[in-house]
Amino acid sequence: MELRTLYRLAAPSAVALLALTTGCTGDTVQGRPGASGLRDPYFPRAGNGGYQVDHYALDLDYDPADGRLHGKAVITARAEQALSSFNLDFSGLNVEGVTVQGEGARYNRTGNELTVRPAEDLAKGEVFRTEVDYSGKPKPLVDVDGAKEGWITTSDGAVAVGEPVGSMTWFPGNHHPGDKAAYDITITVPRGYEAVSNGELRSRTEDADGRTAFAWHSPEPMASYLATAAVGPFKVTTGRTPSGVGLYSAVAPGEQAANTGPLARLPEMVEWGSGRFGPYPFASAGAIVVPAGTLSYALETQGRPVFSGAPTEEELVVHELAHQWFGDSVSPKTWKDMWLNEGFATYAEWLWAEDHGGSTAQEYFEAFRTGDTDVDRDAGSDWYAFPPAAPPGPADISAEPVYYRGAMVLHRIRQEVGDEKFFALVRGWVADHRHGNVSTADFTAYAEKKTGHDLKKVWDVWLYGKDRPE
Ligand SMILES: [Zn+2]
Repeated sequence: MELRTLYRLAAPSAVALLALTTGCTGDTVQGRPGASGLRDPYFPRAGNGGYQVDHYALDLDYDPADGRLHGKAVITARAEQALSSFNLDFSGLNVEGVTVQGEGARYNRTGNELTVRPAEDLAKGEVFRTEVDYSGKPKPLVDVDGAKEGWITTSDGAVAVGEPVGSMTWFPGNHHPGDKAAYDITITVPRGYEAVSNGELRSRTEDADGRTAFAWHSPEPMASYLATAAVGPFKVTTGRTPSGVGLYSAVAPGEQAANTGPLARLPEMVEWGSGRFGPYPFASAGAIVVPAGTLSYALETQGRPVFSGAPTEEELVVHELAHQWFGDSVSPKTWKDMWLNEGFATYAEWLWAEDHGGSTAQEYFEAFRTGDTDVDRDAGSDWYAFPPAAPPGPADISAEPVYYRGAMVLHRIRQEVGDEKFFALVRGWVADHRHGNVSTADFTAYAEKKTGHDLKKVWDVWLYGKDRPE
């Protein structure tokens, strides 16, 4: 079952690729095809080899009345090898044309791979611009763990969430967190709708037909799974935190309780997180609240997490906010490193409680060890089922051990090294890997170097050990 689903992220068949790559190549550069996947241990076909994207310019036109999306993606990338062809991950939708460096390019689609063959081969190191025009009704994907992701229609619009690979349902790209890029996303919608994405709103322009174009700018690198686009009759609020971080939140009309619930503490949480983890990593913060029932989860879309319905628990808001440091700024190298996202975001919930008169992190840690569901309702879960650094398969990367045992790994470090060294470690980790990508091995090496402690036992028992830690 899992294997079949994995191959949903299929590479072009050998035959199709052969058909594209035989024949004469360019005059001076002799390229070879870029790889159709980045060999991620859990999603081997996600992403593509041979290039790194610097910038995506997405120009989207969406009409909620008929669910049709017209898109133009301009992808600026650097070739890491001489390329005769390269792949983009793209699911559904019709491709209407592809150009590379302004010249028409041949292309071929197999499964979720769009293979592009430029008129001339690209040289290693060359910065090249690919434009893809496309249209259609985007459809969501169902993940191996049963969750829905990608472009999802809501009761009054649409929202895009992309963990791990759903962003390929609304734009072609290198859909693996190992290739982060800057984004400019412009969304044009009919009168009466707001369109929200990541970063800062640069302009809002109405055309003669009453359609409005919202131009969003994200200069900081972003993994494509964190890109979002949300369309709906949102009520928008803006502001600034006391230290000057911009705020832009969009809330569905039926979810106005968000404005007085836990989300109202977001500015305070941003300041708290900056004190605990170091400066907030983006120019703005906020939230997108879509109608309840749209999704079965919240997602830490960059700068502006998506919540399905007004959040009712502070922990959830703190969790998605904490991901801005852990996951969004400091991103995983592969999906195997997911515990570095979720362990830290869960530990942030414990720290928030500890700092605001709730249970201490030590009490949470003990509650999980003893299964005390009075302290945390998930303490009775099978948090020990597998080591957080080695989920058994792709369906497990969002399972309890990745979150709770991941957080317990962090608390074990704190127990070993004490508060002063622990929080210096956390702030150093965030500062030294700001807007970068990290692996578990990077973390364990960094933790030992930064604290000066031998933490091998913690790694062996809590991070990698198969048995339930005692
Ligand atoms: Zn999370």
